Amino acid sequence: MKKLAIDGPAGAGKSTIAKILSKKMGFMYVDTGAMYRTLGLACLQAGIDLEDEAAVSEVCTKAPIVIKYIDGVQKMYLDGVDVSETIRTEQVSSAASTTSKFQKVRERLVKMQRDLSEEYDVVMDGRDIGTQVLPNADLKIYLTASVQVRAERRYKEYMEKGQECNLEEIMEDIAARDHQDMTREISPLCKAEDAIEVDTSNMDIDEVVETIAGLWK
Ligand code: C5P
Repeated sequence: MKKLAIDGPAGAGKSTIAKILSKKMGFMYVDTGAMYRTLGLACLQAGIDLEDEAAVSEVCTKAPIVIKYIDGVQKMYLDGVDVSETIRTEQVSSAASTTSKFQKVRERLVKMQRDLSEEYDVVMDGRDIGTQVLPNADLKIYLTASVQVRAERRYKEYMEKGQECNLEEIMEDIAARDHQDMTREISPLCKAEDAIEVDTSNMDIDEVVETIAGLWK
């Protein structure tokens, strides 16, 4: 099976780019962030202390999560409920970043991710795809952009969805999440040695897609 791994910090454009590329290539798009978000949501709903490793591990190993592909689109279900939209808030982003640092949480999701990559050709995005999940990926991309640009993109996304937001706060959240994701002990966000870095700060979507499609060829 073929594997394209895309890693990078929050808001670098991973999911937008991965979605377009996967369509173009006829591959399945696996959004691993959505899986961590769903477990983050499960912990929020359980009302536990998100820093309590034992409690988080208990909830996350048992949470009834299901991943489905409907017309090629990934949907996340928690306890039978489609939470694909519910997980797209700053509160859930932040919860996912806090709970994803624990071993048990990662073990469960990495297994699901590897299983998918054995069954399908995948474009998979996340934080540790090139370093941990798919170390033998055919191509590894590390997508970055400045914090300012990433925050502006998120701001636009939220505004388009009619969600109330504040640019300064988004910038602070992104910086905090970067710090948490990059400094955690297990599988921190970092560029794999053999990954190619693409800085999207001054690129539009088409340029990024063309660049990666060219590298894939
Ligand atoms: O990519 P997204 O912003 O949806 O990810 C939410 C959070 O899930 C990240 O901030 C990170 O803490 C965690 N995550 C991770 N490993 C991945 C994907 C996401 O730890 N492969």
